[in-house]
Amino acid sequence: MANDPAETAIEATCCVVGGGPAGMMLGVLLARAGLDVMVLEKHADFLRDFRGDTIHPSTLELMHELGILDDLLKQPYVPAPTIGGDIAGTTVTVADFRHLPVRCGFVAFMPQWDFLNFMAAYGARFPGFRLKMRHEATDLVEEAGRVAGVRASSPDGPVTIRADLVVACDGRHSTLRARAGFAVTDIGAPMDVMWFRLPRRPDDVAESLGVFVPGGMLVTIDRGDYWQCAYVIPKGSADTLRAAGLPAFRAGVARIKPAFANRVEAIADWDAVKLLTVTVDRLPRWHRPGLLCIGDAAHAMSPIGGVGINLAVQDAVAAANILAAPLAERRADDAVLARVQARREWPTVVTQRLQVLIQNRVVARVLGATEALSVPLPLRLLQWFPPLRRLPARLIGMGVRPEHIATPEAPRPAPAR
Ligand SMILES: Cc1cc2nc3c(=O)[nH]c(=O)nc-3n(C[C@H](O)[C@H](O)[C@H](O)COP(=O)(O)OP(=O)(O)OC[C@H]3O[C@@H](n4cnc5c(N)ncnc54)[C@H](O)[C@@H]3O)c2cc1C
Repeated sequence: MANDPAETAIEATCCVVGGGPAGMMLGVLLARAGLDVMVLEKHADFLRDFRGDTIHPSTLELMHELGILDDLLKQPYVPAPTIGGDIAGTTVTVADFRHLPVRCGFVAFMPQWDFLNFMAAYGARFPGFRLKMRHEATDLVEEAGRVAGVRASSPDGPVTIRADLVVACDGRHSTLRARAGFAVTDIGAPMDVMWFRLPRRPDDVAESLGVFVPGGMLVTIDRGDYWQCAYVIPKGSADTLRAAGLPAFRAGVARIKPAFANRVEAIADWDAVKLLTVTVDRLPRWHRPGLLCIGDAAHAMSPIGGVGINLAVQDAVAAANILAAPLAERRADDAVLARVQARREWPTVVTQRLQVLIQNRVVARVLGATEALSVPLPLRLLQWFPPLRRLPARLIGMGVRPEHIATPEAPRPAPAR
């Protein structure tokens, strides 16, 4: 495609598209290694309500490896040393993070905008880090059979970013993977999520929890002064739910969690309830010359287990470890990109299989249940033998293949006198 002469053209060694957990982590790590990186984020800020809020023990460990853990933990967060649920009135503990071989034996519930703002501020320490907000990638620039950059819209008009490598970190509705024509294997999910807030009262028990009753499921995330609620519904049933009216919706929430009956009126209208469609998919091939997909752009994750952010961050660390030196030497060819997929594909496959198992065995059954629920045997075993809770803690908290920072920090120029 010919360049429009009115378009601004910018150059970068690597252009990262998407300022979510994958994109911010990758951009920061490459800039820290001395590379010239441009991160494009289509929104004006990170203040989106519907991002997951979990910072896992393995991500906290990475922060320690970078020497910024103490600073991160100065942000507001709620530590969860264990996670569990309430199944028809019985409280169960599923994972106990306190025994993990890391500095922080807990999941930090931290609003994701705080985490991303923190990473943006950390990235700004490195001269090669350029974060461009309100820049939405709209297309790829292709030359001689390879991706040579992206086109984006910006507040100042269209812009072209030419780069040796474009990394698509633009999430589960990735524009770039569609433009690249990548095949997508749809794995499917039996549920969607209605996402809304309810006020938190001083005497509420401060605990993020999944509550399961026959035909209903509600996850409540403690955000300090309010509860972020995820009301899980059968896939595609949002219109039926809306047609039944807001009073019925409020009653549905109160049925699952009676302690919220005194505040469901705070859901003033349907604008306060966002539909989040759940997708689980994977690209058979994550790359082509000049372009790599990671995070949800390569493999959209289900919310089950709250592990998608962890996987996105781990992808970014592995990608930085593998790409930093070849990018510096301008030899990040397709074989190098294939190494990133080879390293991260099986952790992705294993994690998605576990998510699908839980989606089908637990979520679909609970949503379809009409009779009283009982605590399934594997969960009962976890209550009888607490050390068994270390296994789910490992899977959720560390992931299947935890990564470590291997990119060195490039020396920074001394400040001018
Ligand atoms: C309902 C729901 C709840 C979830 N809860 C959790 C949870 O609690 N814990 C957890 O670990 N995981 C959770 N997940 C999964 C998790 O959200 C994802 O796996 C994770 O966010 C993936 O990170 P990412 O950086 O790859 O993509 P994203 O977080 O989706 O980030 C993509 C970024 O790219 C930007 N962008 C998109 N298109 C463009 C473009 N064209 N140009 C420029 N920028 C663009 C977006 O604005 C966004 O900032 C949940 C998923 C769902 C559906």
